[in-house]
Amino acid sequence: MLRFVPFLFTLFLVGISNAQNSSYAKEMIDSLCAPRYHGRGYVFQGDLKAASFIEKQCKSKGLNSFGDSYTQSFKLGVNTFPGDMSVKFNRKLLQTGVDYQINPGSQNLNGSFKTYYLKPSMVKSQEKIFKTASKKKVQNRVIVIDETSENAVIEEFSKGINQNPLNAKGYVLLKDKKLTWWASRRTYNTTILDVSIEGLHKKIKTVDINIDQEWVSEYQSKNVVAFIPGQSDSMVIFSAHFDHLGRMGKETYIAGASDNASGSAMLLDLADYYSENPPKYNTVFIWFAGEEAGLVGSKYFVENPPFSLDNIKFLLNLDLMADAKKGITVVNGTIFNEAFDRLKAINEREGLLNQVKARGAAANSDHYPFYEKGVPSFFIYTEGDYKHYHDINDVPENIPLTNYDQVFELITSFVKEGL
Ligand SMILES: [Zn+2]
Repeated sequence: MLRFVPFLFTLFLVGISNAQNSSYAKEMIDSLCAPRYHGRGYVFQGDLKAASFIEKQCKSKGLNSFGDSYTQSFKLGVNTFPGDMSVKFNRKLLQTGVDYQINPGSQNLNGSFKTYYLKPSMVKSQEKIFKTASKKKVQNRVIVIDETSENAVIEEFSKGINQNPLNAKGYVLLKDKKLTWWASRRTYNTTILDVSIEGLHKKIKTVDINIDQEWVSEYQSKNVVAFIPGQSDSMVIFSAHFDHLGRMGKETYIAGASDNASGSAMLLDLADYYSENPPKYNTVFIWFAGEEAGLVGSKYFVENPPFSLDNIKFLLNLDLMADAKKGITVVNGTIFNEAFDRLKAINEREGLLNQVKARGAAANSDHYPFYEKGVPSFFIYTEGDYKHYHDINDVPENIPLTNYDQVFELITSFVKEGL
């Protein structure tokens, strides 16, 4: 990539300017993950502040807007945790996001409670659970359920705890799997904690809990949209969601460096590239909000597009670009297989990535609402050793950006030669 470098020097500086791509991306990822954006979710308007940051970048790059602003607003209902978030077991304070996470659909809860253990040995059937619980008068207790035991009755029972079947104060679910957070667009009738069993050595006798929850029924968020004009009416769209999960209480936020500050940064990088290398097609960049709450921003966009979706020649959605050590996976690769074969051929010819793998359709990122409207589209994500996903360790310090430049080159070559 020869950006930022005067023409005469390019022959000598190819290596250096290649490195510039990922260092620019890293700089943008650092910014998007900064505490002032609060994890780009729905607490303290983190996502809106991040949107303003991206708008500012679009402006400074001289990108065009559809209409008089770069943004497109929409509303969603969302459950949030903007205030206190503290949990103690046996009077010992737990670390939020490490020892436990709040189930994102939870209600607020404040107080000190005794526990009631639902042990596999005590539960032979659903009826038995209800019978025993009613005898024990669990209304003022927190129910502890050990989900590590692979007991079918408990598994079935756990599925329905959003409804607070035992009419208890709350539930603690003991897990041996990694804690993985998400966003909820509803509030349950109870409070649920997912607790990592690792490091939990004693029986939990008491739970002190102080959790502020707030249901926001009409949260206003916004997508950011910009473009660089080409020489034909056809459009190529690059998209990436910039939102993430926000705050789990006022002290803890989920930065989302890989998911998806990395893809958002690559879009900014691509905008620089096409500013310097005028594209054949109108080249549109969309940073979606509300992805983590269920593709809300992209669903809104396809219903209210600022241009005809028929003009889209191809959409490339980038999400999770942190580590392409093994390569990339292409969702819709088995559907738009001619385009996929061209992508693969370019990769082999240029010797860029170890693996370019095809997958079928999946409603797992913002390409999907477009795909449902008949827009040819790929969702590209990287695969490597990076394992932090929807947790407090998905931070800029941890992301390697392995083969970032190779992915960048593959994508730009595909648009240039493969469409
Ligand atoms: Zn995500």
